[in-house]
Amino acid sequence: MKSNHMNAIPLLVLILALVVTSESNAATYRVKDQVAYQKVASKLKPGDTVELKNGVWNDFEILFEGVGTAEEPIELRAQTKGKVILSGNSNLRLAGEHLVVSGLVFKNGFTPTSSVIAFRKNKTELANNSRITQTVIHEYNNPERFENENWVMMYGRNNRFDHNHLEGKSTKGVTMAVRLNTEASQNNHHRIDHNYFGPRQILGSNGGETLRIGTSHYSLTDSFTVVENNYFDRCDGELEIISSKSGKNKFIGNVFFESRGTLTMRHGNDTLIERNVFFGNGVDHTGGIRVINKRQTIRNNYMEGLAGYRFGGALVVMNGVPNSPINRYHQVEDSLVENNSLINSDHIQLAAGSDFERSAVPIRSTFEKNLIYRDVKQDPFTVYDDVSGISFKDNAINGAASFQLEDGFTNQSFDMQRAENGLLYPVAESSLDGVGANKDIQPIAKEAVGVAWYPKPAARATFDHGEKIQVEPGLDTIADALKEASDGDVLALTAGRYTVSRMLGLTKSVTLAATSDEGEVELFFERGALFEIQQGGNLKLKGIKISGAEAPDSAGNSVIRTQRRSMLENYELIIENCEVVDLDINHSFNFLTVAKGTFADRIEILNSKFSNVTGAILSLDKESDDYGIYNAEYVTIRSSQFDKVAGDLVDFYRGGTDESTFGPHFELSDSILTDVGGGKRNKSKSSMLLHGVQVTEVAGNKISDSLPVKVLHTVGEPVTKIKNNEFIDTPKLEISELYSDKRDTAHLSNNVYRTTE
Ligand code: CA
Repeated sequence: MKSNHMNAIPLLVLILALVVTSESNAATYRVKDQVAYQKVASKLKPGDTVELKNGVWNDFEILFEGVGTAEEPIELRAQTKGKVILSGNSNLRLAGEHLVVSGLVFKNGFTPTSSVIAFRKNKTELANNSRITQTVIHEYNNPERFENENWVMMYGRNNRFDHNHLEGKSTKGVTMAVRLNTEASQNNHHRIDHNYFGPRQILGSNGGETLRIGTSHYSLTDSFTVVENNYFDRCDGELEIISSKSGKNKFIGNVFFESRGTLTMRHGNDTLIERNVFFGNGVDHTGGIRVINKRQTIRNNYMEGLAGYRFGGALVVMNGVPNSPINRYHQVEDSLVENNSLINSDHIQLAAGSDFERSAVPIRSTFEKNLIYRDVKQDPFTVYDDVSGISFKDNAINGAASFQLEDGFTNQSFDMQRAENGLLYPVAESSLDGVGANKDIQPIAKEAVGVAWYPKPAARATFDHGEKIQVEPGLDTIADALKEASDGDVLALTAGRYTVSRMLGLTKSVTLAATSDEGEVELFFERGALFEIQQGGNLKLKGIKISGAEAPDSAGNSVIRTQRRSMLENYELIIENCEVVDLDINHSFNFLTVAKGTFADRIEILNSKFSNVTGAILSLDKESDDYGIYNAEYVTIRSSQFDKVAGDLVDFYRGGTDESTFGPHFELSDSILTDVGGGKRNKSKSSMLLHGVQVTEVAGNKISDSLPVKVLHTVGEPVTKIKNNEFIDTPKLEISELYSDKRDTAHLSNNVYRTTE
């Protein structure tokens, strides 16, 4: 292999590719493959440029090293921006001085190391004064959902990351992090600007932050990182969109669009948060700014339509821990919150997190000239502890009923009007001049960040945006139609009997719907599962009757299951006006079985009937490691009936003590359960087991001849409401607190127990 022949070709390429410019000794090397790159990579001089040929570069681990100068940096760029695709197991490390990288796209693969882009070669050889610009990382995820990886890791000093597009991270680990782990990476003065942080789905665990600066360990060290004019679009990973964990950072002029979570000053002092705009549009868990630590300034920010609560509210000022360890909560001291507008946002929380441990209230802090407006004229403030250490001055709120913070506020009705910059301001009201956010804020547009040559994803409904495909009764007509279907299509089933002889694997969104009401659509299946939701799959069933009578006579069948291995993309499952019968050919026949490492954004069962089931309806209990991971975000069951179900209606498990997720959420309303949970194989001995669910509503149900409903509270101040239910010949609800000696925090009202004898 190592013949002269092999050596000769790259040399020839090299000679042909070398273009010497007339002004200086700087060279442009046009390289067409990895061998050619390696030839030039070790001898780059100031002013040199390496240009990667357009095309797909597979398994290319780029090490870009050199010492350029401010006047003559060394460049690595795509021949044409966006036309150089790094795929397979590729990544990029840079080390040296004055390096500039531009125009690359990472997609169709994942990094073999722990990051896609690292501003270092190894622990001691870092990049300084260097820049990554106009680069895309799109769904470049390890296939194993909980394999921890970070896309961009900034080390060194004076680096810039700008006009990049990061979209679709679905594995555990931050999208981007600034590290301060050695002295050479501290006081770093990095600049992160004009980037498009595209949608990041709910992770269902800690580790879903979009941007983190520092770690608790080095949090009393200054970073001086500036995060400016970035657009955060639906960054929903977890509670913290941004976690600032070092000193003297600045967050200026960023837009947060429908992003769940908050910009959190988790650790570190002297942060400035100015001219940021948050648009929640009422989306669940959209939050604003969370204040912790010393000398923080939150000035001239605009928040509208934020629905988040608790630590995820529109503005949250936390309590600290006296003499806090470095990784807990430092007291808020000498901080300033001024000239912010909080519009139609549900929650402002002061002294939040107050408890036996977090007893250090905010001190020597000021809250002034803030404008609070809600159409509903309700008080958005919750005060958890003594706030006499905050001085309130010249704030305005629009006529909130029974407002609790009288001093330092004017509480009078006023109206708002949208200005040309898209933001709301009080209608000509001179007394409010100088209160709230300034009129000169110009929220950065989505088009002004990232790159122009790579599309930014628009919002789209999961289901029913495609074509309608008519399907006739018979053997495998559904399987045939499914092969032809595209994402968003509807298979319209004519009345009659359908038999499915094979498992239907779903890698797209599809709806199966009865055409009309001229007769029943009846569906039988002959494999251990009718549907398997695979990567990219979503399923909606409407108006269909499904029978398990022809399923194999073996234990553990399911009507629907997820793929058996880890799945990156979250899925949705909707069952509407359906009837499911005879899941009883053998024991442990579930309606839905999920695998570990899979996650549903939502599961809904509406107006449907289930009877004769030997397993569970929804078995969501596969994350048993107690890492705070779970299997579904929203589970909703409404106006449905369940009759003779041997297992649980739902077995929902989120173990551990982690507090960084919003869910799981569970609702059961206006439904009838008869003889549920009583099978001898049902280990939970319940009709429903909700372990560590964060938001629960069980209301208006009639539960007869069933095992008890069991609720186990873990952490995170779960909100549990159980009301207006009738329990007939069914034992009392069991609610317990696993990690708290307080009385349980469930809200129970108007539940009636009867026995018939
Ligand atoms: Ca976190």
